[in-house]
Amino acid sequence: MKTSIATVSISGELPEKLAAIAAAGFDGVEIFENDFLAFDGRPADVGRMVRDYGLEISLFQPFRDFEGMPEPFRSRTFDRAERKFDIMQELGTDLLLVCSNVSPVSLGGIDRAADDFHALGERAARRGLRVGYEALAWGRHISDHRDAWEIVRRAQHPNIGIILDSFHSLARKVDINSIRAIPGDKIFLVQLADAPMIDMDLLYWSRHFRNMPGEGDLAVTEFAAAVAATGYNGYFSLEIFNDQFRGGSAKAIAADGHRSLVYLGDTVRRRPDGAVLDAPAMPARADVKGVGFIEFAADTGDADELSRILRILGFRRTARHRSKRVEIFAQGDIRMLINVEDVGFASAAAAVHGTSAYAMALVVDDARATLARGLALGAEPFEQPVLPGELSIPAIRGVGGGLVYLLDEISDLAHVWENDFVAEDDGEALAPTGLLVVDHVAQTVAYDELLTWLLFYTSLFDAGKTPMVDIIDPAGVVHSQVVENASGSLRITLNGADNRRTLAGHFIAENFGSGVQHLAFATDDIFVTARVLRENGFAALPSRRTITAMQRRASDSTPH
Ligand code: MG
Repeated sequence: MKTSIATVSISGELPEKLAAIAAAGFDGVEIFENDFLAFDGRPADVGRMVRDYGLEISLFQPFRDFEGMPEPFRSRTFDRAERKFDIMQELGTDLLLVCSNVSPVSLGGIDRAADDFHALGERAARRGLRVGYEALAWGRHISDHRDAWEIVRRAQHPNIGIILDSFHSLARKVDINSIRAIPGDKIFLVQLADAPMIDMDLLYWSRHFRNMPGEGDLAVTEFAAAVAATGYNGYFSLEIFNDQFRGGSAKAIAADGHRSLVYLGDTVRRRPDGAVLDAPAMPARADVKGVGFIEFAADTGDADELSRILRILGFRRTARHRSKRVEIFAQGDIRMLINVEDVGFASAAAAVHGTSAYAMALVVDDARATLARGLALGAEPFEQPVLPGELSIPAIRGVGGGLVYLLDEISDLAHVWENDFVAEDDGEALAPTGLLVVDHVAQTVAYDELLTWLLFYTSLFDAGKTPMVDIIDPAGVVHSQVVENASGSLRITLNGADNRRTLAGHFIAENFGSGVQHLAFATDDIFVTARVLRENGFAALPSRRTITAMQRRASDSTPH
């Protein structure tokens, strides 16, 4: 499965874009005419630069308003085509994208368009070039890939093929199974884009709201499976028009894009009809059984205060680490760790973000397989030295540079508590309050990171996402989406803050970055929990630094 991305999908000058695209692991890049209009160099220089980054040019685009033109426009479009061919030969690419005509002077008719493409195919063949025809969802006469295919079929020219774009087909709700009837070798390239479900003008929706496969609501997986069934083995290329992406970090957006394609390839490969797709093998998405622990990084002063709060919440200190200054507070199936080490990652996290829940552990079916999947998806691994006899828990970097540890019940990791910790009695414990498990973890991120983390969690773990909800804060809007699995054992709410004035925005500003904003615990009887909390001296915090919240384990308790 060859991966590509259109340069328009990300921000920056051309060299910066190419560096980001190459670093993310793509094989190819779609070059837009605008790229060298804004670049101080000739097409040949662009071609050389692309190849120097180890990339291939998957196609050159766009060529607009070609087919079905009456004279004298028709002759001019063929002249324009020859100039595009000149550029392509200088660039070093053999594929031109022609999108369906939107010109008011263009004429309809499948055969007229087919004749034009046959003639264009002849000209392209003389130069060893190929032309792919793409139906724009708002094309004047052709807006459906089935009609575009009929034109390509009737053109009967080996140098003329079809280019499919998931957005155009899915936005118009064209039957995706119609793709299965197209011979794979007549599909010259496949462009992929997802989008949130918004009822709006197709052109505006396409130009501003496309996002990476898996980030939106369109059936991109079904689309890609239909393509795979044809035997197509060319590029899957991202063509994402999104204002936010064009204003974001080229490196981060390119990394998200590559992750989305690898994830999509794996999802398609696992389908009975997708087995033909040549996508890299990796372990399946992990089944999350629950939150194994939440770890706070703190300085000693804050740790005392945090211990006091945890005891009021009914937690009891049960153990300390054999070699590190880490204590466990437990209640029900919840483990809260407080780490006051003055060296290492936790110490650095506390120095940067202040006392914070910088790490969480998820219990999965197979921790090391999950780590392998994470690495295949481009996650950043984390390791720090352990003493002989202690366990090295697999971990990857998560939101805000924090850690996601992975535990399981099938390996040596199941014994981490007896192995690495020494049980200890808590002389200061208060009455347990009946808290049972972590109900959800709420993480606050900058709005432009929201899709990144949504894709991170849903590509790695067997979980879905709820539609985006806008929460109206007196000072602005917070965009919220929940990642959750079928059993409810994994629930992470992601809140994206647009500005600093909202509560979510304050959180990011005051904590120097994204992170865990609150934790919710489940209890079987919230009234008993409330009573014991009061007896323990619990005072609901009036300030915005609330780090704990309670939630009754009930179906109507929608996290947000
Ligand atoms: Mg397209």
